Amino acid sequence: MSHQTPATLKPGLYIVATPIGNLGDITLRAAEVLRACDAVACEDTRVTGKLMKHLGASKPLWRYDDHASDKDRARLVASMHDRAVALVSDAGTPLVSDPGYRLVREAREAGVTVTTIPGPCAAVAGLTLSGLPNDRFLFAGFLPVKDKARLEALTELAPVPATLVFYETAPRLTKALAAIGEALPDREVAVARELTKLYEECRTGSPAELIAHYEAHPPKGEIVLLVAPPAERVADAADADQLLAEALQTMKASQAAAQVAKVTGLDRKDLYARALEMRA
Ligand code: SAM
Repeated sequence: MSHQTPATLKPGLYIVATPIGNLGDITLRAAEVLRACDAVACEDTRVTGKLMKHLGASKPLWRYDDHASDKDRARLVASMHDRAVALVSDAGTPLVSDPGYRLVREAREAGVTVTTIPGPCAAVAGLTLSGLPNDRFLFAGFLPVKDKARLEALTELAPVPATLVFYETAPRLTKALAAIGEALPDREVAVARELTKLYEECRTGSPAELIAHYEAHPPKGEIVLLVAPPAERVADAADADQLLAEALQTMKASQAAAQVAKVTGLDRKDLYARALEMRA
């Protein structure tokens, strides 16, 4: 592992993650790139100005979001041929529910060197704190604001065998929890709030338990909402019969039992006895 950032940077686009609440989370490389770059493209010059001041850095701050005109974006990309331009968002990792996607694509298409300086990201921080399964997760950004669209979005995600990760705002939290209770019943939910800040908390429970809590204690601040994956359905006797009947068309009873045992986790000896019965 090595750590080297030269005092002067080669021209290009540097995607720089910044803290999500605790300034101590700025990485060494992020600080060095922000001090050494020629300009910073950012969402809000006041927010990024404060971070730059904290780092003792003073660089031109250029406002950028994905609604920038094609002409403005092309001008920004053209400047990267002879300038090192850092892209930051107000907080966390640029492009994750934040601007930058078009800029990165077009910079690469224009032959600009694009590099990333990874760091804080609320979705990943929330996932680690939630204690929910994280071998697979699906980041779904912000849920729609309107009730019907929100319920439809959740219904679409219901069969996904992964922890679901959403960004949410405090005023909409209980509505989102109610919709989760309706579309994804019997799932454990985690509310990760104010990550890395003084009042960081992570509360887990059923949607109904969490609604009761947050109605009594209205939440403040920023929130990552996480929903556990659907429980694996345990195969029952009818499933086993169907699988055995299919397997018996091409296999001996012992082979069919072994195969169905592997797929369902049911007992091989019981399946063998059942396969003999079915064959008879
Ligand atoms: N790009 C950012 C990232 O990497 O985390 C996310 C930007 S998105 C516009 C802002 C949302 O991220 C907030 O509404 C909230 O859902 C979540 N978020 C950001 N900071 C957070 C924090 N400290 N604690 C909990 N959630 C946070």
